[in-house]
Amino acid sequence: MDISTFTIATLGSHSALQILKGAKDEGFKTLVFCEKGRSKPYLSYRVADEIIEVESFTNYFTEIEPELIKRNAILIPHGSIINAIGAATAPKIQANYYGSKGILEWESNRSKERVWLKDAGLQLPKIFSSPEEINCPVIIKFHGAKGGRGYFIANSPSEFYERIKEYPGEDDFVIQEYIVGVPIYAHYFHSIQNDELEIMGFDKRYESNADSIGRIAAKDQLEANIHTSYTITGNIPVVVRESLLPMFFELGENVVKASRKLTDKGLFGPFCLEGIIDTNLNLYVFEISARIVAGTNPYIQGSPYTALRYDEPMSTGRRIAREIKEAILADKLETILG
Ligand code: AMP
Repeated sequence: MDISTFTIATLGSHSALQILKGAKDEGFKTLVFCEKGRSKPYLSYRVADEIIEVESFTNYFTEIEPELIKRNAILIPHGSIINAIGAATAPKIQANYYGSKGILEWESNRSKERVWLKDAGLQLPKIFSSPEEINCPVIIKFHGAKGGRGYFIANSPSEFYERIKEYPGEDDFVIQEYIVGVPIYAHYFHSIQNDELEIMGFDKRYESNADSIGRIAAKDQLEANIHTSYTITGNIPVVVRESLLPMFFELGENVVKASRKLTDKGLFGPFCLEGIIDTNLNLYVFEISARIVAGTNPYIQGSPYTALRYDEPMSTGRRIAREIKEAILADKLETILG
């Protein structure tokens, strides 16, 4: 088989520019679906051979999937796709889908995710099953809160009950130990072709208003009654101290190993461990994303880590395309399709 009969496709949002550029660099035809009025970046950056405008990504099965199948396209999933169609519906996708669909139910369900990460030996922030148990700073996360908007911090049961009044009717939330430290997002790629884990890079997020509250004095914050929120606006590259790298490799490998007990092929391709490192260099992981994350976007030309391993610019998007290309050339495409 050769790659000319395939097209790499994705939805125009999240990390699509990187995915499409990477696919082009590897010699694939590219296709992007954009919601009406939102195609300008894909046109301007010339990453897509074809742009199809749709009413809404939520119409995946009627507006998008038939076009994918018609073109023998391989869909690269990212956060906006999972948001639009829902992790529970993803297994119904008939088009060629890169990655493990089975793992999505484990990453999208908070209790299942904990079972998986605990089994991999990761340290996780404690979960409080009732507000009465709060005895340290906690972060209250609403399920489905997009980009961390609406989270709040409480230090005691009474503070929790006071703050929760601002969210009438909301009862789908988790009360999680608040870890004081720095957020670090580790980007991995596990290749099925050579059964090896690569660290592609790290980032931290630029969150509003959490990342700017310190610009005004604590006294003014109190007077203005400012509440912390974590709305993601962008991503900032991070290089971790080198002595932390053995730990990051080990954790990533353990997560992949543990995933093989959950689904047939387990986790493969890009994924991200999202955590906080405290002052004693302990990493507490609060989430896993089993797909490409937007934190890889600063590295379209490769990261300091991929520069060590590859003699050419290697983004996560391009790494995905390379893996697909190698699978096609080896006649093993089915090994990387979910
Ligand atoms: P999330 O929506 O779970 O990715 O969290 C959004 C942001 O909240 C993260 O980027 C962190 O800055 C912060 N955060 C989440 N969980 C914790 C935690 N357990 N301790 C401290 N900060 C957290």
